[in-house]
Amino acid sequence: MPQRHLQQAAADAARLTTPSGLGLDSAGVRQRMVQRLRLDGLRDERVLAALAQVPRHEFVDTALATQAYEDTSLPIGHGQTISKPSVVGRMIELMLAAPGAQQRGHLGKTLEIGTGCGYQAAVLAQLARQVVSIERLRPLHDKARVNLAAIKALHIRLLYGDGMLGHAPAAPYDSIIAAAGGDDLPAAWLAQLAPGGRLVAPMTAPSGRGQVLVVVDHLVEAGVSQFIRSLQESVLFVPLKSGVL
Ligand code: SAH
Repeated sequence: MPQRHLQQAAADAARLTTPSGLGLDSAGVRQRMVQRLRLDGLRDERVLAALAQVPRHEFVDTALATQAYEDTSLPIGHGQTISKPSVVGRMIELMLAAPGAQQRGHLGKTLEIGTGCGYQAAVLAQLARQVVSIERLRPLHDKARVNLAAIKALHIRLLYGDGMLGHAPAAPYDSIIAAAGGDDLPAAWLAQLAPGGRLVAPMTAPSGRGQVLVVVDHLVEAGVSQFIRSLQESVLFVPLKSGVL
């Protein structure tokens, strides 16, 4: 029934543009986005509930607010994009399915690489004990700070720096998630992943063309660490870059 989805999305967009309507019925619009994501295969109700909580329209320019509840990435300036809700949901679902997270019932201490506008950090914070999020572009780091303060997001630490180095002082992390993809996984991420922890990141596909999601579990057997990788579906993320700007 994609036609109905489109009609509903148009009606929702209209609702968000009524002069006094912006934000008023955004909870209802978000619920319908969540319903579409559920129909499209997102299964974990905890993730769907977190996506229903976070006002995505607060993280994009006012001119783009009417598109905030469509399942698309949108520009956030500086050549970067806010991730698609379905991909944010899918990655968090994968992290919650880790044996450690299943036992714990949440993501534990979580490291995010690529804060961008802060949207995914806000979603993660609903499901984690603490979120440490790193951004290499100063203007976006500052923007995320403003956005997250505006929605009164709790237990998120924003850091300005090169996320390829992770953040050793707060390591180890139970969950690590990257919103930008490189040719390989930086060694620091694996070094900072707690035993029993899981990392989910986009990475250049083995063919060398396009990107895939990679899941890495840190298992310890007889005192020896093993990192077990599995490749998931194709994705499209901005490039992971070193250094800061
Ligand atoms: N998490 C965001 C997605 C932002 S796009 C959301 O909620 O939508 C990915 C971000 O990763 C960009 O802002 C980009 O600047 C950043 N990035 C790329 N390489 C990085 C690195 N080495 N360290 C930190 N951030 C990085």
